[in-house]
Amino acid sequence: MPRPLLPTDPARRALMQRVRQRRTRPEDLVAAGLRERGLHYRRNVKALPGSPDFANRRRGWAIFVNGCFWHHHKGCKRGTIPQRNRPFWVDKFAANRRRDATKIRALRRAGLRVVVIWECEALDPRRLAQHLAVLANGRSAPWPKG
Ligand SMILES: [Zn+2]
Repeated sequence: MPRPLLPTDPARRALMQRVRQRRTRPEDLVAAGLRERGLHYRRNVKALPGSPDFANRRRGWAIFVNGCFWHHHKGCKRGTIPQRNRPFWVDKFAANRRRDATKIRALRRAGLRVVVIWECEALDPRRLAQHLAVLANGRSAPWPKG
């Protein structure tokens, strides 16, 4: 999940780092859920198209954990469009979503099942469990060809 750059002002930067540490990041909740279910994974798998946040190539799956704001989760309260510079944000979110779709297609072509877990879903244990159950029940897939 792309994160905004930290500000350069040291005081502001320290404040933002504290804020970030206060709550568990969605990726960490997904990682914990995978471990609980005995699903082995690698994180930030650069060898696969789109560097998925989690993947198990032997089992044939990949996971993207998408921030609701940056990836513009439609119908989600976190998927807002800032009123300031609205055209800029509309373009930016459209570009992010196009890039997400391209990554997913590339992984599917490589034979992987792709699960997108939104930030708000990672924070909801029931929704997270539903996503992870799909992986736990899946059959193993052959190693994807280049
Ligand atoms: Zn959301």
